[in-house]
Amino acid sequence: MAAANPDDGAASDNPTSMPRGLDVLRNPLLNKGTGFTEKERDALGLRGLLPPHVHSQEEQAERVLLNLRKLSDPLDKFVALNALHDRNESLFFRVLCDHIDEMQPLVYTPTVGLACQKFGQIFQRPRGMFIGINDRDNVAKILRNWPYHAGIIVVTDGERILGLGDLGANGMGIPVGKLSLYTACAGIHPRLCLPVTLDVGTNNEALRNDPYYVGLRQRRVTGAAYDEFVEEFMSAAQEVFPGVLIQFEDFANHNAFRLLEKYRNRVCSFNDDIQGTAAVALAGIFSALRVTGAKLTDQKILFLGAGEAATGIADLILSAMIAQGLSREEALRSCWLVDSQGLVVRERTKLAAHKLAYAHDHPRVGDLLTAIKMLRPTAIVGVAAVGGTFTPEVLEEMACINEQPIIFALSNPTSQAECTAEEAYRWTGGRALFACGSPFDPVRINGRTLVPRQGNNSYIFPGVGLGAIACNAKSITADMFMSAAHKLAHLVTESDLQQGSLYPALPRIREVSASIAAAIAETAHKHGLAGKPMPSDVLQDVQAQMFDPHY
Ligand code: NAD
Repeated sequence: MAAANPDDGAASDNPTSMPRGLDVLRNPLLNKGTGFTEKERDALGLRGLLPPHVHSQEEQAERVLLNLRKLSDPLDKFVALNALHDRNESLFFRVLCDHIDEMQPLVYTPTVGLACQKFGQIFQRPRGMFIGINDRDNVAKILRNWPYHAGIIVVTDGERILGLGDLGANGMGIPVGKLSLYTACAGIHPRLCLPVTLDVGTNNEALRNDPYYVGLRQRRVTGAAYDEFVEEFMSAAQEVFPGVLIQFEDFANHNAFRLLEKYRNRVCSFNDDIQGTAAVALAGIFSALRVTGAKLTDQKILFLGAGEAATGIADLILSAMIAQGLSREEALRSCWLVDSQGLVVRERTKLAAHKLAYAHDHPRVGDLLTAIKMLRPTAIVGVAAVGGTFTPEVLEEMACINEQPIIFALSNPTSQAECTAEEAYRWTGGRALFACGSPFDPVRINGRTLVPRQGNNSYIFPGVGLGAIACNAKSITADMFMSAAHKLAHLVTESDLQQGSLYPALPRIREVSASIAAAIAETAHKHGLAGKPMPSDVLQDVQAQMFDPHY
């Protein structure tokens, strides 16, 4: 797909109703601001509506960066970028694509967490669709208010936003941010992206009493009424946007697992918190094993946290171990979970269903450090959203047990990270194979500069979405996430590994996403899940469908 141009408007099917003049300047999908050429100014009736000098998009991007870098507060930068997104989408995405290292932490984690917490205060223009529980029986009608054909919907009910809990309708920052990354990282056209918040209320009392809160001021609707509402939305989305891919985002445990199971085979859908996280973490482990030379089947992995991320990752690791020859029972013995009550063991009654598979026959253990001493894991993966839980003692113990301990502190935002990169390296004598959820600067230790990279879903989900759209996937399977993990790990270079990086450099993200998309499409074709014939060159086919924001 080409960059947004005057033909990209909603009315483009009918040349007589092509937007002109101020309608062009006020449509962010069409607007190029001072970047409109002389010819375009004549054709679109823009003469006099713009200052006379024509700027190149490069100059416009420099101006954006100049102003952005003058701001010191990340939230102010978020607001400025949001305003640009609302004015000129191509310029916004060009800045994102060309400076992804600098911009991703602003439009997504960690800043997006703060932006959701302050969503009501910083609110300027709506983006996406807010569908309230009071809209029951009218959801299809409401979706028809969206002016474009959605190819991907990212939907949340705002109940578990990052590690920040119930933020209700303020959680909309997450689908918006994710879809920005779909476009920036994988070139999915912004017009195909629809962020949706299902507003069923919030149990966050402070929010309900906040004068700036944008959502329904009522407690969450649960039970059958909730399920019927989600069902209506899922059916309506498919009716209004046939073939749409629906990504579940930041639903709380008690709904996330159920909804994934209910819809994964019925609707082209996935849960990024469970499945996307799993693929990115498994890729990181594959990279770490390239450094240590050890086999996956010899690993023992201890998770801090037993929620969506932990069990999602454990499930995929299990499948990978089984694919490499272990029985399911043997593979299960390699994955252990610690939750807020301690080690997940069979003796504990009332365990949530998603933890049961990992409940081992083992005495109770109350804390992480004791669990490490008893189990002697090769890797610890932090996904409990409790900051500082990889203490110096935990890290030292891992370094005592392992020559090169695998330490993944994946919780977001930064305040919830289990440890910083500096702590991980310092307390393991620089030997940790480290990945983080939030970004950390390089660390100089023992004469080496180690460059930690984010084990962030953004390496995976954009490519999954692009691949699904490119081949009209009918569903998204576990095999697809496995192929994405292998592909991502394969793209990590030897020089990445030498500097301690377990993921490719972020500026390569579009190449990474295209490769992952091709892997997804190939898997879909292999399993008869593609809605179109297989092209002779899948990678080229995928690349041809990528939106380029440069004009
Ligand atoms: P979740 O709510 O499903 O799970 C959290 C788990 O942590 C629960 O099992 C809970 O019992 C456990 N827990 C809470 N307090 C604990 C404590 N003191 N000790 C041990 N366990 C405790 O959330 P989730 O979706 O699994 O996400 C968890 C964290 O991982 C969040 O911070 C999220 O942002 C992060 N995450 C990061 C990525 C990434 O790409 N890096 C991807 C997904 C999730």
